[in-house]
Amino acid sequence: MKKQVLDKTFVPFLGKAEISNAIARMAEKINADYDGKKPLFIAILNGSFMFASDLFKKIEIPAEISFIKLASYKGTKSTGSVITAIGLETDVFERDVIIVEDIVDTGKTLSEFLPQLIHQQPRSLKVCALLHKKEATRFPIVIDYMGFEIPNLFVVGYGLDYNGFGRNIDEIMQIAE
Ligand code: 5GP
Repeated sequence: MKKQVLDKTFVPFLGKAEISNAIARMAEKINADYDGKKPLFIAILNGSFMFASDLFKKIEIPAEISFIKLASYKGTKSTGSVITAIGLETDVFERDVIIVEDIVDTGKTLSEFLPQLIHQQPRSLKVCALLHKKEATRFPIVIDYMGFEIPNLFVVGYGLDYNGFGRNIDEIMQIAE
């Protein structure tokens, strides 16, 4: 069924069952890969809150989760925008860190944030993303655990917004062309 979010119309794209199957598959892999370890999940707000919650419920090894926001502000012309992490209170030094992101689009956000984390010397650093728009890549990012490769079209729902709205839709919908 079509849904209206503000002035745009969206059509079904990934249903509840598909999403939860993908998350179960990702969690199973993480549970196996991190057996004997105590990873620290870092979920990037706002978009990843539903995904992080559903994924974390399926993690069976001892694990911590921390939620951060990335704020970008304009730097000088030569540096472009600069990203700062807000709310990272857990020390990542020598931790096995898993970044939880809703969607990797151009890769710019993570390409700026990951080096900042690496600077704090985690033992390991991996990326878990529910969605990846491969065709939109401008800054290649290695995604270690991925839900779906999707076409370069705007999506909402399951935590993802259009101008702040649509996050409460319980499936992922694509903009109607
Ligand atoms: P990137 O830095 O990889 O270009 O963009 C990542 C961020 O852009 C995501 O965390 C998300 O907030 C936003 N984004 C990219 N594509 C979409 C989309 O199709 N729908 C929504 N709602 N947000 C998107």
